[in-house]
Amino acid sequence: MQDLRDFEGLKAVVTGGGSGIGAATARLLANRGAAVAVLDLDPAAAVSAGLHGFKADVSDDASVRAAVASALDALGGLDVLVNNAGIGAAGTVEDNPDEQWLRVYDVNVVGMVRVTRAALPALRASQHAAIVNTCSIAATAGLPQRALYSATKGAVLSLTLAMAADHVREGVRVNCVNPGTADTPWVGRLLDAADDPAAERAALEARQPMGRLVSADEVAAAIAYLASPTAASVTGTALAVDGGMAGLRLRPV
Ligand code: NAD
Repeated sequence: MQDLRDFEGLKAVVTGGGSGIGAATARLLANRGAAVAVLDLDPAAAVSAGLHGFKADVSDDASVRAAVASALDALGGLDVLVNNAGIGAAGTVEDNPDEQWLRVYDVNVVGMVRVTRAALPALRASQHAAIVNTCSIAATAGLPQRALYSATKGAVLSLTLAMAADHVREGVRVNCVNPGTADTPWVGRLLDAADDPAAERAALEARQPMGRLVSADEVAAAIAYLASPTAASVTGTALAVDGGMAGLRLRPV
């Protein structure tokens, strides 16, 4: 797997590639031969890793258009777009004011729309065009205390299917990955905020069917598959990388 060079000659943009799942994806695509540009609020880590990095806020259309234009200049075209930037939100419908609902929706959903809109003309010119959106098992799992976040990821799932339908005859494939709880700096921040981070981590792991969190590299491998020429006939799908969290119904025996 490490020696696979199936992205040789392909050009990829990864949003939110400065950390976690996006950083692992950018690294993996580059290792497999792609030229990669990361768009992030903080692209410093990507630049340090030898990738193209552009500062962008996916909730700001002018910022997105400028960063996508810079990325296309640097790469000389585009084959793969990974719409991965996203933020979390905890609570029930009673816990977040309208402004917060609109803010998280603006980043997690409209952010993908903005980047896709800016990237589509270049993708249509590619022979291997693929978009992969980072969704979540929260889209379908009915998680407690995640009303706002789940609603945004439900929208990402619907958006993925609609985009797949709209662009299938243009040669642009669109899929999403549904990670379960993944061991990224995001989850690290949640654990750090707990009274007892070690106990909180143990509780989180105990809730997973596999007894452990998913790794960012495992999610990146699924994104790479969906983005790769190997998946040429795959569009309009959601691939769960969740240790069985959404699909399995484990009960004590
Ligand atoms: P992370 O916080 O480690 O990384 C997110 C990256 O996105 C950061 O580099 C951040 O700077 C960037 N970002 C945030 N807002 C942005 C904006 N407005 N414009 C541009 N960049 C922005 O998080 P992660 O865990 O790697 O999550 C990545 C994606 O995976 C998100 O879409 C998240 O919803 C999804 N996801 C994560 C988990 C998990 O358990 N970690 C589970 C399911 C889905």
